[in-house]
Amino acid sequence: MALNIRIILIQTWHPGNIGAVARAMKNMGLSDLVLVNPVDFPSDEAYSRAGQATDVLDNARVVSSLAEAISDCVLVVGTSARDRSIRLPAYTAEQCAEEAVTLQQQAPVAIVFGRERMGLHNDDIQQCHAQLNIDANPDYPVLNLSQAVQLVCYEVFKASQRQNQLPQVEEDYPLNEDLNRFYDHLAQTLDEIGFTNTKAPGQALDHLKALYRRARPTAKELRLLRGVLSKAQEAADKS
Ligand code: SAH
Repeated sequence: MALNIRIILIQTWHPGNIGAVARAMKNMGLSDLVLVNPVDFPSDEAYSRAGQATDVLDNARVVSSLAEAISDCVLVVGTSARDRSIRLPAYTAEQCAEEAVTLQQQAPVAIVFGRERMGLHNDDIQQCHAQLNIDANPDYPVLNLSQAVQLVCYEVFKASQRQNQLPQVEEDYPLNEDLNRFYDHLAQTLDEIGFTNTKAPGQALDHLKALYRRARPTAKELRLLRGVLSKAQEAADKS
């Protein structure tokens, strides 16, 4: 059965890379490609680099934001050759592949790749639940985009062959859109209880979001947290 794993490319500059990514995916049995604001797509160059994976390009979805590409996903992993200031749990390619193959039974899993020159921006990384670093030469760890996709998809392929030995998902995890609704509720509550610092209103929220992303609450835990927020709002309303 096809794996419910989505490859997302952000603002790819070179159409040849998009074609090479399509081929890398199809070689490893993946087909769900989403392009966020590609600079040049559709293009002949992409098709000429795709080999026999032109169907992956035909079916690729073009969207205008990462949020749109991941709203229905249960796990979003950002790939990067570098460390980030907001810490996220870090996976090796192999660990990520196992987690992705396990969780895709529940809902789509997204693996996000950055721009050729700039990689992922911090606001992209802030929408991810975890990061993936491919081990490489510390003096030059930055791979070509399509080769990074190839390595990750290869690990996914190998993990899918071991699927029967991988742990089953025991808990339901919230989709990204449910997490976003929780963050909106959290922001509103922080405001209403007078916690928001007017000088840097988003700062506490960003740190709290990073905390919740690391903790990966289950759907049940998220409902509990929403309940706590509602009670805090009620209490603030009365006082
Ligand atoms: N100059 C950029 C590099 C971008 S390379 C930077 O410093 O971030 C293009 C994309 O390939 C990256 O955004 C990432 O998605 C992927 N990539 C390249 N090397 C990688 C590595 N070692 N581990 C994980 N992803 C990598």
